[in-house]
Amino acid sequence: MKLDKHRTPRTVEREFGGTLGATCIPVFLPLTVLYLLSVCRSPGASLLQWPPPLPHTSQLWDPLVPYLLLGWVAEGMVLRDGTRLKYPINGFHSFCVNAVLLGLGLWLGMPLGYLFELLLPLAVCTVGMSFLLSLYLYLRSFWAPSHALSLGGNTGNPLYDFFMGRELNPRIGSFDLKYFCELRPGLMGWVVINLAMLMKEVELRGSPSLAMLLVNGFQLLYVMDALWNEEAVLTTMDIVHDGFGFMLAFGDLAWVPFTYSLQANFLVVHPQSLSGLGATAIIALNGVGYYIFRQSNSQKNQFRRDPTHPSVAGLETIATATGKRLLVSGWWGLVRHPNYLGDLLMATAWSLPCGVSHLLPYFYVIYFTVLLIHREARDERQCRGKYGLAWDTYCRRVPYRIIPYIY
Ligand code: NDP
Repeated sequence: MKLDKHRTPRTVEREFGGTLGATCIPVFLPLTVLYLLSVCRSPGASLLQWPPPLPHTSQLWDPLVPYLLLGWVAEGMVLRDGTRLKYPINGFHSFCVNAVLLGLGLWLGMPLGYLFELLLPLAVCTVGMSFLLSLYLYLRSFWAPSHALSLGGNTGNPLYDFFMGRELNPRIGSFDLKYFCELRPGLMGWVVINLAMLMKEVELRGSPSLAMLLVNGFQLLYVMDALWNEEAVLTTMDIVHDGFGFMLAFGDLAWVPFTYSLQANFLVVHPQSLSGLGATAIIALNGVGYYIFRQSNSQKNQFRRDPTHPSVAGLETIATATGKRLLVSGWWGLVRHPNYLGDLLMATAWSLPCGVSHLLPYFYVIYFTVLLIHREARDERQCRGKYGLAWDTYCRRVPYRIIPYIY
């Protein structure tokens, strides 16, 4: 590949607050991760506590951590197919191999609960890794051909482009860096952290609590679903539209495993008792959310892959100038983002086992609501650009975005 020095920077509408956002977010979000982890294990676990319970600098580093992290990522890479020449869809298989190895390790007495003690230094090191990876991605993008660049991350402003990602699908040989990071190290890391919190609870109290089992079970289902349906990630905005820069690298590697596991982390220090009835209601909520999430995502994926398939052929659609059609009945006729609705119901079910005395376990629901509203607006803008009048017709036919009759 040749360095393209004469590329004209594109004028595109900037997202995430433009240069200011792209400068502040890489500082603010890593600090948020460390702050949340520190608050989570403080006795009060209060987000409004002042001064916040800051960790001592000695708690931020452990020489074991870089080995654990590099070992984790390297294992994920090799498990893909051993050769790095192809990119087979085998995330679920890789997950099963990891699960067997982990089970074996636990059976042999591996002290997984010790990860509870290592969580802060692990987060610090992962944040560092995300910065290094983003820097590498930014620099190497100058050797990429212009057709390989993302539309949004090629403005010529280094801070903004570093944040958004210049190259769309950077690869080393046939090893797709973004595709790998999207699902594997972060999602599987999240499950391992959750399990480690459960083991820590067993160490402290002799057995896992019902609340901890629910949180672990729900989130395990979510991760297994994502890996089982790995192919679907190929049509998401992250892969199709966004460049691979700090936003996705940090999100995939650091934000997901460390903030999505906050509920399990919280339960170690703040045990909660849960009635049978309460647990049943929460399981039902998660079930309904999962059903909506899975059915709507599968319906759209099936429709995009093969619109003549019997499961989608009977659905009402509208034509667009691009030749693609839009579903206006079925799940996508209920609201414009039924998959987000299901996701939000599940997110609520993940927090409820932690009781209602603290706000911290609800961090995920709050953050996720903001993320999905913002994501919906971004997708809407892109779809209006792609489909023009047909999109406006769809919006008139299906007026609500995420929650029927509310939003
Ligand atoms: P979606 O799967 O919602 O895809 C949006 C795209 O679907 C649009 O750009 C359009 O693309 C197509 N589309 C929209 N409306 C219609 C229609 N009526 N008929 C046919 N196609 C339509 O995007 P996301 O990537 O945002 O979400 C995927 C899943 O991932 C969701 O379930 C979401 O909740 C989840 N998610 C989870 C996150 C987490 O951190 N847990 C973070 C982000 C997402 P086109 O027409 O070009 O096919």
